[in-house]
Amino acid sequence: MYLADYHLHASCSPDGILTIPQIARQAIEVGLDEICITDHLDTIWWKDYSPRDSFDWPEVLRQYEEAQSLYGDRIKIRLGAEQGEAVINFDIADKLQREAPPLDFIIGSVHTTNKKLGYFDIYYMEERGSDYYNAIIDGYMEETMNLLRWGKFHVLGHLMLPLRYLQRRFGIVLPPDPWMDRIEEVLRCIVDHGLGLEINTGTGTIHLPSEDVLRRYRRLGGELITIGSDAHKAEHIGAGITQAQETLRRLGWQYFATFEQGKPIFHHL
Ligand SMILES: [Zn+2]
Ligand SMILES: [Zn+2]
Repeated sequence: MYLADYHLHASCSPDGILTIPQIARQAIEVGLDEICITDHLDTIWWKDYSPRDSFDWPEVLRQYEEAQSLYGDRIKIRLGAEQGEAVINFDIADKLQREAPPLDFIIGSVHTTNKKLGYFDIYYMEERGSDYYNAIIDGYMEETMNLLRWGKFHVLGHLMLPLRYLQRRFGIVLPPDPWMDRIEEVLRCIVDHGLGLEINTGTGTIHLPSEDVLRRYRRLGGELITIGSDAHKAEHIGAGITQAQETLRRLGWQYFATFEQGKPIFHHL
């Protein structure tokens, strides 16, 4: 089976530690056929939320070329980005993408609530009760729709991310059911705009989106799917990829996708 991990963070992400050659070496070690580096291309600095309108592409390219020369004959290495927080400033997101080298693949991600709640980073949500969780998730859904209307990416990343944080941090397991109408709106928008959806394995822990969301996507005509671990550390590279492939097969998918210069390449499951 062809194995590709399409969500990997290197040292040019604020929370990344591995260089691209280190990622490639580990990916070969765990038997992957292809990887795509998707560092955080954010419109804000994480520390103080100030605008961030530049990115260290020379360093990314230096690492990428080193990885290609060391390991390019043993694994396919693609260059992508995780476009984060475009919703906070679409002009900056446009600029960041304009100034990027040719990228194979872009994940569009929302990690925050909405403007009304100050684009609060949902990673820092607290254990405060259902009204609070609902407000955060509503804000997240609103910004996810705004991101989709902009649409300058290939797949939507980790749909329903707040549910993972609630489960991981507080052991609160919320089914996506109350938001299913809004999720359906998101999925329709993905299909209508010719975009795709990511299965994000959460480093092999809580896969997003859940199976009922995937089923709904398929029923609406959704086909395009990539799979990524969201690894920031060596031990998480490739985690959950085969399990996600099994899930897709079980739900009736025959193909998953990788990308080359923005064009999907389909692989049999
Ligand atoms: Zn993300
Ligand atoms: Zn990520």
